[in-house]
Amino acid sequence: MRILLAEDETLLSDQIKTLLISEGRAVDVAFDGDEAHFLGETEPYDVIILDIGLPGQDGISVLKKWRSAGVDTPVLILTARDGWSDRVDGLDAGADDYMTKPFNMSELAARVRAMLRRSSGQTNPLFEKGNFVFDTRTGRVTLDGIPVDLTSQEVAVLSYLIHNSGRLISRTELSEHIYAYDGDRDSNTIAVFITRLRKKLGTELIQTIRGRGYMVDAA
Ligand code: CA
Repeated sequence: MRILLAEDETLLSDQIKTLLISEGRAVDVAFDGDEAHFLGETEPYDVIILDIGLPGQDGISVLKKWRSAGVDTPVLILTARDGWSDRVDGLDAGADDYMTKPFNMSELAARVRAMLRRSSGQTNPLFEKGNFVFDTRTGRVTLDGIPVDLTSQEVAVLSYLIHNSGRLISRTELSEHIYAYDGDRDSNTIAVFITRLRKKLGTELIQTIRGRGYMVDAA
């Protein structure tokens, strides 16, 4: 799952980025409103974290532009402690959730996970199918209750397919959602990850539709 983080305080931005990467997300960072606006409108993100107090265009203006341009990505806004009017304006402009600075990093991570679940229409944090269970909170996988060892990239691929279960996903779409903007994208490596996942999880879970992509059936 790929996330845009628009936050101009470098220390906070680094902390959030590190946290999200540790959860297996691909993260692009914008340090001002113009860059955030451009990236959010041109790249396919699964969640956007948007500071309201950005240099250049402020966060509320950026959010309004995205929404009027039809960008419907879930947006979490970050506001100052006394910024109740920013929270009201942000929610009215189309934000899905907010956090007030300073905040707890675990709470931010949990809110992002909840937004990803909501946007995929999955209310249960566990995705279960036969003997297969994927925990969207931890990225852990079990087969018949036994943990399966997956690499972070295998988890990233699996997580995107599961959050979009019931839908055919092309290799291009997968690579756009598991690699950051400056990531080394190669759709051939996607095929390699899928092969490894099918080897570890059995061939039933991930269907390959020749020449078109991959699909995990809804739970
Ligand atoms: Ca700021």
